[in-house]
Amino acid sequence: MSECDCKDSIESKIKDKFAEEKRGENISDLSASLNGYGMVIINNTLTLRPSMPIAIEFKTPLKTNASKMKRTKKELPILFSFCPFCGVSLDHKLSEKLK
Ligand SMILES: [Zn+2]
Repeated sequence: MSECDCKDSIESKIKDKFAEEKRGENISDLSASLNGYGMVIINNTLTLRPSMPIAIEFKTPLKTNASKMKRTKKELPILFSFCPFCGVSLDHKLSEKLK
């Protein structure tokens, strides 16, 4: 569960807006999901956090031939400490829950 209801409320608004645009086109099973969220364990609690992926690229020597370089790509998420939509402190809410 997220610390505020922005994810659910935005997804609901997007679904409503899209359904309105597609009214009369006989669509079904409509869903909308904000993908920039992930489950993480913070203070022994599984929680849903908004995040942004970071693409990291670098060159590193080949193990078989150190004079040649190969490009390596990694993707890591950065977790937001504040809701990107309403600005509420997610750490503050979490620490309140633990009291
Ligand atoms: Zn929010």
